[in-house]
Amino acid sequence: MVQGELLLGADGLKSVICQQINGNIPATYTGDAAWRITVPVERLPENFMEQVMMVWMGPGRHVVAYYLRAGALLNFVGLVETEEVSEESWTARFPWERFKADFAGWHVDVQTIIDAADQEGCYRWSLHYRPTIRNWITRRAALLGDAVHPTLPYLAQGACMAIEDGAVLTRALDQADSIVDALQLYQRNRVDRTVRIVNQSTANRTLFHLRTVDEIRASFANRDEGADRNAWLYSYNPLTVELV
Ligand SMILES: Cc1cc2nc3c(=O)[nH]c(=O)nc-3n(C[C@H](O)[C@H](O)[C@H](O)COP(=O)(O)OP(=O)(O)OC[C@H]3O[C@@H](n4cnc5c(N)ncnc54)[C@H](O)[C@@H]3O)c2cc1C
Repeated sequence: MVQGELLLGADGLKSVICQQINGNIPATYTGDAAWRITVPVERLPENFMEQVMMVWMGPGRHVVAYYLRAGALLNFVGLVETEEVSEESWTARFPWERFKADFAGWHVDVQTIIDAADQEGCYRWSLHYRPTIRNWITRRAALLGDAVHPTLPYLAQGACMAIEDGAVLTRALDQADSIVDALQLYQRNRVDRTVRIVNQSTANRTLFHLRTVDEIRASFANRDEGADRNAWLYSYNPLTVELV
């Protein structure tokens, strides 16, 4: 038997700890699958893409690409609408030929990345909605990350939120006089932000899968995604935000 003062459920979107605290949370297929590959930059043309995040949008699908490991790897996520529900998993491999076919006719840079992929290393993740949860704790247990706020990747914030949770929980444990108080402080300071991010992420699915160029132009004409996200999303610092 293992004994401890606090159980932390950081066991991902199929969390058994969350199930024990909140019961079964239903998952509904979104209609989207996410192709995922990483490509070492030496397989790509020199100066292929600036050190920025690139997004390509088109009818019923979109692509996001950015660098990992200080520019050594290019990460590519390609979202496609499909009625074929498959596994919700990091390790579900799918044939490269299907990947290539899903983006036939897309921008030449998208083709360059797909052509440079390791053909045995193409993964497809079936994306599911789950309702948001406001109950993260018991007296001796707390949930963290996808275990309590699984999110769709349309705002690229799932891992960021898990890191923020960890930072705030650490501070709450330092500040409070008891574990019970610390867990309440943690939950109080994290739930609203993560619910907002999850809901915003879900809303982005519609925005990214518009059918025509005119619709895309009209939807983005009065938006300033950068300013909006800087105002509330990227400006949050879990190490300094006041815990109330
Ligand atoms: C296609 C896609 C693209 C994404 N892109 C981004 C992005 O650009 N930016 C971003 O911030 N996030 C992104 N995310 C989300 C991000 O991957 C997740 O939010 C993040 O991995 C959650 O971290 P976690 O530690 O909570 O859970 P996980 O990474 O799922 O880790 C949970 C761990 O618990 C282990 N585990 C589970 N059950 C048990 C058990 N019973 N006993 C012991 N261990 C157990 C698992 O093996 C796993 O290692 C993306 C997700 C997807 C699907």
